[in-house]
Amino acid sequence: MARYRDSDCKLCRREGTKLFLKGSRCNSQKCSFERRAYAPGQHGHNLRRKISEYGLQLREKQKVRRIYGVLEKQFRNYFKEAARRKGVTGENLLVILESRLDNIVYRLGFAPSRKSARQLVRHRHFTVNDRIVDIPAYQMRPSDVICVKEKSKKLDIIHMALKDSERSADLPWLRLNKAALEGELLEYPKRMDIPITASEQLIVELYSK
Ligand code: SF4
Repeated sequence: MARYRDSDCKLCRREGTKLFLKGSRCNSQKCSFERRAYAPGQHGHNLRRKISEYGLQLREKQKVRRIYGVLEKQFRNYFKEAARRKGVTGENLLVILESRLDNIVYRLGFAPSRKSARQLVRHRHFTVNDRIVDIPAYQMRPSDVICVKEKSKKLDIIHMALKDSERSADLPWLRLNKAALEGELLEYPKRMDIPITASEQLIVELYSK
């Protein structure tokens, strides 16, 4: 399967904003973006081009795609599905991305980053409605209950991530039972409850050309 293998921090520098791809490191002084807030490459710090409308749309799409760690083809498929659903396409797109199993694992605080959540899911550490699910892109539905598998309840990475994280505390669409290592998607999130700074309308404009 195709996978991005270069430095995650380069992606933040390319997008000109922190994408929070590396867990606690992102909030520490080790964050590359804090030290080098310019595009990667030899001429990165000299880039002062005026960006076109298309460029703005493209960058917004790349930013959102990279935040959720989704490849281009899958992202485009998500867009098609968002456009097919009733309601506002941009908002639908974010809801689909937020409903991915790896994202919910991250949002509940069971993993320090989406990348790490993806790995934990692939390694079969979670059940959804009592069945092991090892597909990071699995779409959760309201009332789905996610649990850390019995044998995985002692994993340090999960406990450390939970200790560092208060992410789910202010997300009204998720319920977390820390003691039982269990969470639930209560309902699909509304746009105002999705903590991501992005202009999804720009993505809709890009794909609607
Ligand atoms: Fe981005 Fe995190 Fe790397 Fe900082 S540490 S540049 S926020 S991935």
